[in-house]
Amino acid sequence: MKKVALLLIIVIALPLLFGSAQGEILHNYYTIQEDTEELANMYPDIAIYREHGESGMGSLGIFSVDVALNISELSEEELRALPTMYVDAAHHGNEQMAVEAAYFFLKEVLEKSAADPTYLEGKRLVVTPVVNADGYLIDCRNNAMGVDLNRNYPYMWGEYGTSGIPSFCPASGTYRGSSAGSEIETQANMELMSGMNLYVYLSGHTGSNDIVLPWKITGEYAVDIPDWELYERFLEASNNVSGLGYRDPSGAGESIAWGYGARTAISVIVEVDEMQWFIATFEDARDALDNELKMYEMAWENLTLMGGNIQIESVENDKITLKNIGWGAAYNITYGKQIVEIVESEEMIVLDIEYETDNSMIDMITYNRMNITGEEESMTEIAISIKEETGHIEQQKWIPYPNIILIILTVVMSIKLRSRND
Ligand SMILES: [Zn+2]
Repeated sequence: MKKVALLLIIVIALPLLFGSAQGEILHNYYTIQEDTEELANMYPDIAIYREHGESGMGSLGIFSVDVALNISELSEEELRALPTMYVDAAHHGNEQMAVEAAYFFLKEVLEKSAADPTYLEGKRLVVTPVVNADGYLIDCRNNAMGVDLNRNYPYMWGEYGTSGIPSFCPASGTYRGSSAGSEIETQANMELMSGMNLYVYLSGHTGSNDIVLPWKITGEYAVDIPDWELYERFLEASNNVSGLGYRDPSGAGESIAWGYGARTAISVIVEVDEMQWFIATFEDARDALDNELKMYEMAWENLTLMGGNIQIESVENDKITLKNIGWGAAYNITYGKQIVEIVESEEMIVLDIEYETDNSMIDMITYNRMNITGEEESMTEIAISIKEETGHIEQQKWIPYPNIILIILTVVMSIKLRSRND
């Protein structure tokens, strides 16, 4: 018994000694809330801190930081239009290192953007460090209702890998909830994500140190990922910078299934390193998370390439040349009467310039940047204006106007001829 007591004292005392000797120990609910708010307030031109929800039992704030250039000057519509990366963490409240990863990433994007605004130009980042505030407060996987929030989303809800029985701390079950999207935390996250033009969604967890796909693509319950080529390229790029491999998820109704299936973003779980908060310092954590943060960074830096991305190469001789610079195919490229079903990544196409009935050039080209459709019509549709993109002066269709000079000449000649006859 004495040995056990001594061990307990060591386990409790160690982090305090360790923490004071080598730096601060990792966050808890109150310090992450405070630090996140403080961090956002340091960059008022580019960051806004918000509490966008409340936990079910403890009424703890669920907070996020919204990041974009001149953010307070943007209308809601302008903000919503920006290609967006969303990072969240701690759907499972006992997975602290994912919270640290979200915080570090936010901090680093803010620092880099403040030094060089092009790092942020034309994009938006939203970070929610703690989805399951009640669970995180007491180091529990599930929320206060015993629901595994990462089985509660209304996409493929309950199809596999979930339980029908609530599970409370210290047990860590996979209760899917009483209905799809039943939990207040799930609803808050869905509402936040619905206000974004979402390109990439990274949901932080800890445990297996790899990347998890939105749904099973092998074995029982396998369903194809309609944008698989894009996913493959993304996963390969992730692996190149982080060394992380990927796998099927273990359950249905995960936030990433909804993120891709309903909200059309490349969505994956990043299972970051597992380190218990009570022995880790920020320095230790930053080191351990280095490879995952490189992957987050890769996704951010290539955000607008995540899907088809059609660029105008040239407009000349009644032809318009387009190139898809995105990592995925572009679909249903439509210009006037011309429709091209698919343009692969790196592929070029040439279209004929078309004209309206008033002979002005048709200006808009539309396409879908993803193959998946999502829950709202035309979620993935992009419209590009030839004039805006190229500064191209509107071409008038060539019409054989009667030559004014010729008319005058003819009139003059005929008068002269007539007068001679007189
Ligand atoms: Zn987890």
